[in-house]
Parts: sequence; C-alpha cells; structure tokens
Amino acid sequence: MITIKSPREIETMAAAGRIVAETLALVGKHVRPDITTEELDHLAESFIRSHPGAQPSFKGLYDFPATLCTSINQEIVHGIPSHKRVLHDGDIVSIDVGVWLEGLHADSAATFPVGDIKAETARLLAVTQQALAAGVAQARAGNHVGDIGHAVQQVAEGAGYSVVRELVGHGIGASFHEEPQVPNYGKPKRGPRLAPGMTIAIEPMINIGGSAIRTLDDKWTVVTQDGSLSAHFEHTVAVTDNGPRILTTT
Ligand code: MG
Ligand code: MG
Repeated sequence: MITIKSPREIETMAAAGRIVAETLALVGKHVRPDITTEELDHLAESFIRSHPGAQPSFKGLYDFPATLCTSINQEIVHGIPSHKRVLHDGDIVSIDVGVWLEGLHADSAATFPVGDIKAETARLLAVTQQALAAGVAQARAGNHVGDIGHAVQQVAEGAGYSVVRELVGHGIGASFHEEPQVPNYGKPKRGPRLAPGMTIAIEPMINIGGSAIRTLDDKWTVVTQDGSLSAHFEHTVAVTDNGPRILTTT
C-alpha cells in the first residue's frame, strides 16, 4: 500500500531529513585517509542522538548493527562499519544514513572521495549525482515511477555506466521501506502513478563496469561482481502540488 503523508507529516520528515543531511555533511568532513569506517559511524550516531527524539534508522533494522552503511570502492551498499576498515587515499566511500524522528524516517546517501581520486572516478561520482537529480526532477504528481527510473537510467547509461537492478529506491514514512519500489531503470509512464503526499527515496547505484552484483559472506555487503567501482547518491523526496521537494537537505 502506498501511504499519502499529511503536510504535517512531511514537515516532520523534513526535520528528520535535515538531521540526515547534517549527519552526511559532518561525516563527509571527516572522510580522509587513515580514518576507519567505525570512527565515522560513531561520529554519526552521537550526532544523531544529540537531537532530542532522533534515532538512527538503520541500527537494528533487519538486525543491521550500525548507524551508517559504509561501502568502499567496489562495494555498492550495506557495508558494515568496522575498526578494521581503514580508508586510503584514492578510495571512494558511500555513506548511507537514515534518521527516525517522531515516528517517521528520512534516508539519504552520498559517495565521498578519500584524498585524491582519479579523474575517471570523479566522473562516476558526478554522473551518479546527475542521475539522482534527473530522477528527482521526475518526482511530480501525474508522472509515474517509471519516469524516475527512466531518467536515472538515461543519464547513467548515456555516460557508459551500468545501473544496479536488484536494489531499488522505495517509499518511506512510518516504515523505512514502504511501497512503491523505485527502480533506477524503467520506461516512461509505467508503474504506479505519483500523487501529492507520496514520499520516496530515490537512490541510483551506478557501476563503472557491469551491472551484476553479489553479496559477501557477511550477508550484508553488496559488491560489483566484476570488481568495478560503484557510486550511490540518495535523497528522500516528497511529491507536492508544487513539484518535487527534497526532504534530506539543510
Ligand atoms: Mg539510504
Ligand atoms: Mg533508501
């Protein structure tokens, strides 16, 4: 069932989304060679819990053990923060974070460069951000979920990259994952129709190489099968009478 949020609920999600955006900015400032993903996770958890009523969405969700998902290089999503995972110059790290506030969630992700990265890696990050922006622009009342996926796919494949298909964006609200699913590929005018009050997480996962994925033995970390780099950018967006409204922003 697709839930329609009231204006008040959307404001609460925007308040959660502000904390999410500030968390990503804080973590992004600390991304550098020699820091561990566990240190980033602790920073994020303390920051989120410093806001009255706010909690990390991920910790305990399907038994995930941490506040952040931290996915390095060929890791696409769901990497588990660890004191053993040290960031190195030239890496990229995808940080995914959710915040629960007054009964509602917000969800966002970004991929950060660690130190100096190659031009071809920087291009992957730039294109994935453009793909997200193109998807968000389609989150308009009267459009369909397929319009979002189509826009993301056009940007990604137009740049010579591939789109991860097994993992998709999602409705979000009182539950972290709600209907509809929001794939990063699709055909215009297909799929559920978008209406004011819908809130969705749009989250392209784009690989330099092939689209195939596999899950590591830790049962969480999803990686590209060919070992190529992957980037992930995400916003929680409300469909409004005045077009898309990004909720995960300051
Ligand atoms: Mg996310
Ligand atoms: Mg999400």
